[in-house]
Amino acid sequence: MLLASVAVPVPLGQAFTYRVLPEHASRCKRGTRVVCELGRRSLIGVVLRVADREPEVAVERLKPLGHIVESEPASPEELLDFLIELSRYYFAPIGEVLRLALPAVERTQGQQESLLGVKAKLVGKVLQQVVRVQPSPSDAETPKGQASEILEALMTGPVLIRDLEQQFKNARASVKRLEEQGWVTVVPVTEIKNPYFAVKVAPDTPPQLTDPQRVAVDAINHALEFQVRQGFLLHGVTASGKTEVYLHAVKRGIELGRGAIILVPEIALTPQLVGRFRARLGDTIAVVHSALSDAERHQMWKSLRSGQVRVAVGARSALFAPVENLGLICVDEEHDSSFKQEEGVRYQARDMALWRAHRVGGVCVLGSATPSLTSEALVQRGLLTKLELPARARKAAALPTFEIVDLRRIKAGPTGDRLLTLPLVRALEHVVEAREQAILFLNRRGFAPALLCGSCGQIVRCPDCSIALTVHRAGRPRVVCHTCEYHAPVPSLCPSCKSGELEEEGAGTERIEAALTELFPTAKVARLDRDVAAGAKSAAILERMRRREIDLLVGTQMVTKGHDLPDVTLVGVLDADAALSMPDYRAAERSFQLLVQVAGRAGRGDKPGRVVVQTRQPDSTIIRCALHHDVHAFLEHETRQREELEYPPFSRLALVRFEGLDEGLVSNEATRVARLTKRVLGTQVRLSGPAPAPIARIRNRWRYRFLLKSADRLRLREALLKVHGTEVDRRVRVIIDVDPMNML
Ligand code: ADP
Ligand code: ZN
Ligand code: ZN
Repeated sequence: MLLASVAVPVPLGQAFTYRVLPEHASRCKRGTRVVCELGRRSLIGVVLRVADREPEVAVERLKPLGHIVESEPASPEELLDFLIELSRYYFAPIGEVLRLALPAVERTQGQQESLLGVKAKLVGKVLQQVVRVQPSPSDAETPKGQASEILEALMTGPVLIRDLEQQFKNARASVKRLEEQGWVTVVPVTEIKNPYFAVKVAPDTPPQLTDPQRVAVDAINHALEFQVRQGFLLHGVTASGKTEVYLHAVKRGIELGRGAIILVPEIALTPQLVGRFRARLGDTIAVVHSALSDAERHQMWKSLRSGQVRVAVGARSALFAPVENLGLICVDEEHDSSFKQEEGVRYQARDMALWRAHRVGGVCVLGSATPSLTSEALVQRGLLTKLELPARARKAAALPTFEIVDLRRIKAGPTGDRLLTLPLVRALEHVVEAREQAILFLNRRGFAPALLCGSCGQIVRCPDCSIALTVHRAGRPRVVCHTCEYHAPVPSLCPSCKSGELEEEGAGTERIEAALTELFPTAKVARLDRDVAAGAKSAAILERMRRREIDLLVGTQMVTKGHDLPDVTLVGVLDADAALSMPDYRAAERSFQLLVQVAGRAGRGDKPGRVVVQTRQPDSTIIRCALHHDVHAFLEHETRQREELEYPPFSRLALVRFEGLDEGLVSNEATRVARLTKRVLGTQVRLSGPAPAPIARIRNRWRYRFLLKSADRLRLREALLKVHGTEVDRRVRVIIDVDPMNML
């Protein structure tokens, strides 16, 4: 009997088995989407396997597969295999993983230009955007000829009439008839706009490569040409021309008929990068990002799937782009933590990029000015080839000079703000006088990060989380929880002792912005953080910066990302120690990366750059290494530390977190699962905990966790299989985080 194993987008681990009806046999292939029933719901799933075999249960109990949505697999074979492996590695339900990769078959939202949709009905709640193809109004005759072909073309989702007209002679007339007969609906939509393609980009001429760039490009191209499955770590200082290297490699790949994916940390912050790709490669690239509408996403997906477009550029989810004959994946700023998805399927796109490239026999290039210890370790083990770009690409641009301000010794500057020290203010004055630009980096948004009671010493906390409330003043003054977004008017009395002695503690970006405005009345001051700018808005602020409409920009780590702003001559790191105090084995690595990255924004043009770093630990290795631009020394030092403590890359970690409303229950379940897991642990896996998470409560849910650590990947996996297979009280959610980045 022909049986299909189908992944459905519901949060369940396994795939479901269905009978394949004889009339569907020829069209039911791996990767095709099918309509199937689950319980009483009708859902669209993806066929994982088709096999002629004896069923394990009685035939009557097997439901038949419904409609086959398309005759060509929605997912390339290679991608499907990759997704299955990814779901196994992260203990993520296959249906959820598939959702990352396949666009919803869009239901048109009815706002926008003539978009034609299959008349459809929503199926289930989980799948909001998936439409059920319902091509059989009872009283209508079956369409023939062109009409039936059009209907077939629509099975995978809505299509612009304009696009249909290119394919079919009388598309408009046929569509009209189909609509009258109730087969399809025509919905007005506005022009599908990709924000990045709104402006035309003139083609550019590649610059003469520097010698190190040449060496790197040759090595990568050689691997592409000879189809050597190979991974590279492109370590190039900021502005050394890494992007130029990706561009050359992608171009060569396309000449060889192979598609490419370029992953960047935050696409909204890097429209410039997209511009450079378009200038070099033309508009045959798809830009995948979260701000796309469903229709746009579907359009992109289809153009990639059909091979019409060969290159996908985007944030981590672009890893799943259905690029035809994939041959190259570049991961820009590979050290960036945004490659790790921290909800749902908790995957690390950088790690998975190496996998996917390897599976297709392709090339993977990881680029960074501050390589992660993970990637560095792969180089040490001979699994990645290191390519170095030791100097900035443009001759005039030297690396910036560092100055340290010892916060222990220095008094607050003219505004009384502890973080606006006199040396920093002097440096800013210089910038303002010279009509240059400065970036100030402080990784705390809001006005003051805490409200402290001078009488009882308590900090005002979020009622639902174990987190201090941040005072915000911009707009309406309020206190905000940065974890759950709870907000309330600024209290005048201490919630604990009712005294009126609440004081704002410390400074966030808002406070610094206000102080700068006061201090430099002639300068244009702006702020870049999540409060003023999400998504495209942040790009707009950076664009104003580029156009010189802003002189002094203060912001959170959004300002550290790869912007190329030639007139920035000063970068101030207001509190270099903040990231170090995180309860995380990666704290040192992260602070170092932040420091070097933000410093890299200075002096990219013709004028030399200067970086002022304020710290209480001027003698720490991190500061000293950053001071001398010595990434190698830092990597060496940190590698030794990790080795001593047996932390990654010298071991593998998995975090198992338990969440629920009832603290006792959460704690009990964590203890019970930990105990059961311990029984199967050999000597090679260590379990620590369970214990409350550093943030013990979020949104009223208590959080407990234990950590598994092992040098042996397979042993660790066995332990996780045990965790995964253990039944837990339904009121407690268990989250397995493999290779965790966020330990909070
Ligand atoms: P990275 O990606 O390493 O930060 P970019 O590729 O953005 O560096 O290059 C930094 C700047 O140097 C850009 O303005 C770029 O156009 C320029 N650039 C890159 N390579 C060259 C080269 N070979 N010759 C001249 N300028 C270059
Ligand atoms: Zn009090
Ligand atoms: Zn909260």
